[in-house]
Amino acid sequence: MRKAWAITLVALGMTLAAAAAKPALRVIFVDVEGGQATLVVTPTGQSLLIDTGWSGHQNRDADRIAAAAKQAGLHKIDYVLLTHYHPDHTGGVPQLVQTFPVGTFIDHGPLEETNPGTHQIWQAYQDVLATGKYGHLTAKPGEVLPLTGVTATVVSSDGKLIDHNLAGGGTPNQFCSVADDWKPDTSENAYSVGVMIQFGKFKMLDLGDLSADKDRQMVCPKNRLGQVSLYVLANHGMTPSSSHALVDGIHPEVVVMDNGPYKGGSVGALDMVKSSPGLLALWQLHYTPISTTHNTVMADIVNDQEDFMAPDPALPLEVTAQSDGQFAIYNPRTKAAAHYPAR
Ligand SMILES: [Zn+2]
Repeated sequence: MRKAWAITLVALGMTLAAAAAKPALRVIFVDVEGGQATLVVTPTGQSLLIDTGWSGHQNRDADRIAAAAKQAGLHKIDYVLLTHYHPDHTGGVPQLVQTFPVGTFIDHGPLEETNPGTHQIWQAYQDVLATGKYGHLTAKPGEVLPLTGVTATVVSSDGKLIDHNLAGGGTPNQFCSVADDWKPDTSENAYSVGVMIQFGKFKMLDLGDLSADKDRQMVCPKNRLGQVSLYVLANHGMTPSSSHALVDGIHPEVVVMDNGPYKGGSVGALDMVKSSPGLLALWQLHYTPISTTHNTVMADIVNDQEDFMAPDPALPLEVTAQSDGQFAIYNPRTKAAAHYPAR
């Protein structure tokens, strides 16, 4: 793994000034302790929240999302995309709508899992939709979400996958030869909505918790997705998500892992990502004591407490991307940013 250069606070100030001058795409990975809540603010000021974190915890995740949204200057989150109905993604919906204005929900359609806990989470979400206060869309693979300023294409939803090549896709994937013996998964993970968000030459792929047997089908034998600037490591860095064929094939410059201290960040996933060809950096929302020396470099870890009982600073990770493909990642803990060039 080649290390990108870190820059000082002074340089960061210049970066932010440059970013303010040109319309930028901002992506804020809110820390929801091993769930997902990724806030995308487009260059035209529209917003898309991918997942809502967990329920409970005294409104913890809804409060953190609202704080990030206010910090980003939002008065409303235009779209909330639920990748799937597991508690770490959809659990936070009822509290979020009580905490911050929301426009339209996007999901994969019917609940596909019989687990009673998942059913409860799904039902609470259905109760929110039944109030009639919110828009509702069902994502279909291949369609483009109605967001301005970026092209957000659905690549997976409800177990179905995009059947055509995205821009830059369609070439044979040499990494399909790596043995990836993933069994078909029948949990909600397999039904995750995945999106490719493109702003000029910057491309970001977020597959929720999509299972590896599914992601592999999108990149083998030909890679329909093409290469990406940033890959949000599926399923918080747990197996069985993110096949070798996917991670190596999409050739990410940077991978972001939304793990918690004791959730996600498996040794196998960390090692696989770090050996990915062309990778400049792996960023983690949390240090994980489980994987000890397999963690990424400390500069690229946002929340670094090793003791689970210690206060959690709950800091977000912030990405600013330009249409020419270059992007920066800011670590609020170290107050430093790393810059990554356009490919
Ligand atoms: Zn999850």
